[in-house]
Amino acid sequence: MPELPEVETVRRELADLIVGHQISTVEMIGARTFRRVDDRDGFVRALVSRTVSAVNRHGKYLLVELDGLVRTELVIHLRMSGQLLWAASPGDVPLEPRPLHTHAVMTFAAMAGELRFVDPRTFGEWYLTVERAELGHLGPDALHLAESDQAEFARIVGSTRTAVKPLLLDQRRVAGVGNIYADEICFLAGVRIDRPGSSLSKPARLRIAQATGEVLRAAIERGGTTLSDAQYVDLYGNAGAAGNSHAVHARAGEPCPRCSRAVERTVIGGRSAYFCRRCQK
Ligand SMILES: [Zn+2]
Repeated sequence: MPELPEVETVRRELADLIVGHQISTVEMIGARTFRRVDDRDGFVRALVSRTVSAVNRHGKYLLVELDGLVRTELVIHLRMSGQLLWAASPGDVPLEPRPLHTHAVMTFAAMAGELRFVDPRTFGEWYLTVERAELGHLGPDALHLAESDQAEFARIVGSTRTAVKPLLLDQRRVAGVGNIYADEICFLAGVRIDRPGSSLSKPARLRIAQATGEVLRAAIERGGTTLSDAQYVDLYGNAGAAGNSHAVHARAGEPCPRCSRAVERTVIGGRSAYFCRRCQK
């Protein structure tokens, strides 16, 4: 499932591609993708002829901002298996056929090609939000908070008895971290995944904040993580390379990169978790 670094990778590519361009057409193909859209004609009308002024992100949500006086954004949430893919072909060569499970397509004025939303499991969504009214349940963006206010990040970690890994996964507290990077953050911070947040010392809470920034930034630099299911690829269909540098996630039995003891696997909050018993206290 794409997490913050994967969504950020797509955001950067999409911003380079479509900011300043006018939307020409929107095809609503998959009903599930548009399950929140009551007025389908109104949805298309709200998008067509609008110019993309920015591509933003909050947590795992991509937000295509449209020009205008009121901040209106197209929310694209990839969820489990959603992919945004740019299809283009040089000259007069026809575009390659749309993949199975293409649920939405958007085109832009004076751009040869189309933006496709492919989502086999159909948990992904497209909808419009004005002033982010639909995103009010989300906590602060994990990367932004880790870079702008580590003391506040540490306060959030210490504010609950919830174990630190499920705490990092709770999008209402901080938004963007998922199962892969939560393991990596706890390892880098040297904190046991099942330690209640409120039991951590202040330095340990600050290490969680620091590690969140480091882990997410490093993963973005490597283009995110593509697992063996290949469900995440970037806008141009390329896999990310961050999986090669994971220290503990999905590495049960392999030596810990710090102490060489075997990495262990457990289940916490119903999710697989990986950790080093010696390095994480
Ligand atoms: Zn270790």
